[in-house]
Amino acid sequence: MRAIFIAVGSEMLDLDRVDTNSTYVARRLREKGVLMDMKVVVSDHMDNLSWIVKKACQRAQLVIISGGLGPTEDDITREAAAAALKKKLVFHEQIVADLQSLFRDRGLAMPEINTRQAFVIEGAEIIANPAGTAPGQYLETENCKLLLLPGPPNEMIPVFEDIFSRHIVPAANYFIYSRTFRLTGIGESDVDSRIADIYRKYRNPVTTILASLGVIELHFLGRSKNSDEEARRLTDELAGKVRARLGDFIFAEKEQSLAEVVVDDLKRRKLTLAVAESCSGGGLGSQITGVAGSSEVFLGGVIAYANSMKTGILGVAEEVLKKHGAVSKQAAQAMAAGVRRLCGSDIGVAITGIAGPGGATAEKPKGLVHVHLSVENFEQGVRQLFSGDRDMVRTRAVNRALGLIWQYLKEARGKGQ
Ligand code: ATP
Ligand code: MG
Repeated sequence: MRAIFIAVGSEMLDLDRVDTNSTYVARRLREKGVLMDMKVVVSDHMDNLSWIVKKACQRAQLVIISGGLGPTEDDITREAAAAALKKKLVFHEQIVADLQSLFRDRGLAMPEINTRQAFVIEGAEIIANPAGTAPGQYLETENCKLLLLPGPPNEMIPVFEDIFSRHIVPAANYFIYSRTFRLTGIGESDVDSRIADIYRKYRNPVTTILASLGVIELHFLGRSKNSDEEARRLTDELAGKVRARLGDFIFAEKEQSLAEVVVDDLKRRKLTLAVAESCSGGGLGSQITGVAGSSEVFLGGVIAYANSMKTGILGVAEEVLKKHGAVSKQAAQAMAAGVRRLCGSDIGVAITGIAGPGGATAEKPKGLVHVHLSVENFEQGVRQLFSGDRDMVRTRAVNRALGLIWQYLKEARGKGQ
């Protein structure tokens, strides 16, 4: 079943309103194995809307429209959908009576314009809207199922859920099974080039690669018309092949953040951590302390932004800063070792870099970050050149540091340490 979502409202095109209804609907459909093919945002204009509704109904078996069911002149979804399908609008006295009693309950008289909400596409089922005045509509044509939903999310959800459970779920009859891998320490294009030959062979399961500032998610969604078991088998087969190539980078197979995994691993291995942060300004400590129970393993940290803090508190030698600069492998190393000493932790981790937009030089460009991990008898430093603006560089630096800790804990475990 192909699905197209149409969000109606000029405010989502020229003001900073964002369409969130489609993401809600897409998630619910996906749970039943129905994948959304397209979503479109359309202005409150008859011509635009009826044109797109007509095209959508020719192309998809499920067309979901949200917004434009209110009582005002710019609420034109009813008219546009009827015109697209060459159907009449039928006036329903009962809707007017219901609206009148709704207004009466609030001690108000129903404004005349609300009678516009009593027009229903010929043949459509009227769907009660418990949270507002505009009822939803559901129509089955030869080619497609059409849903008209109110725009405000708190109204859209109950109307959608009603139609979803009675008309979409029974028709979807797919069994689905999904799996997720979360990866760190590898770029999106590298992930793709390592596994493209595998996942491109499969139309089912569907593979999605999502990259977000240093963490990559791989989603696999398998569908079967026959059984739960088949959906699972298809998904496991593909996931297994991908795992064989990328296993070293997978830190979680469920909805778990990198910080949560790191805290878990530290707890399991009974190791403590302290951090020294320059350009990330406490972001690493914040991520870790965001995990409930991190107090068992996280001792604290130093935001050593000025050089005087790096030397005075962390004990970084003046010569290191003079010779190599504050953004250098040597400075990061001294910061990590310094904070480990200062806090008495098993692991010290440091971040120093140039988040930009200023501060760059020819040898040290914007986005250059050194992350360093120090434990007794073991050191590891990485030099990264991150793209993006100041916030992005800072977030990537924090994620890289978490990745480095995770990797260290994994490898140490492998060696039985
Ligand atoms: P109303 O009776 O409130 O006029 P309506 O069905 O006509 O309902 P709209 O006028 O299109 O809906 O939208 C009302 C409000 O609902 C918008 O200002 C916006 O805040 C929110 N809204 C509309 N569409 C969406 C969407 N796709 N995603 C999230 N919010 C939306
Ligand atoms: Mg409206």
